[in-house]
Amino acid sequence: MSIAMPIDPENDPRNWSEDFEHENGKYYCRCCKCEELFIGYKRRVICKICFNQKTWMQEMFGEKYFGLYLLVLFIVSLIYCFS
Ligand SMILES: [Zn+2]
Repeated sequence: MSIAMPIDPENDPRNWSEDFEHENGKYYCRCCKCEELFIGYKRRVICKICFNQKTWMQEMFGEKYFGLYLLVLFIVSLIYCFS
């Protein structure tokens, strides 16, 4: 028989644990994206999980080709400028 550990709110992956040592770094905030509570600096508006989620552009082109995509975008805009 094992005893379940109580849920430690400070170990939530949504938290910004690097903020804890700072003044005002242990505030309960509500994420603007997933609307869950997380602990972090009082001015943070997004939890760590949502922050680390890929954007639609990264999903589309993959991180590998994202630089290439930006380069193509840059060249296309140059062509527009000089035509
Ligand atoms: Zn969130």
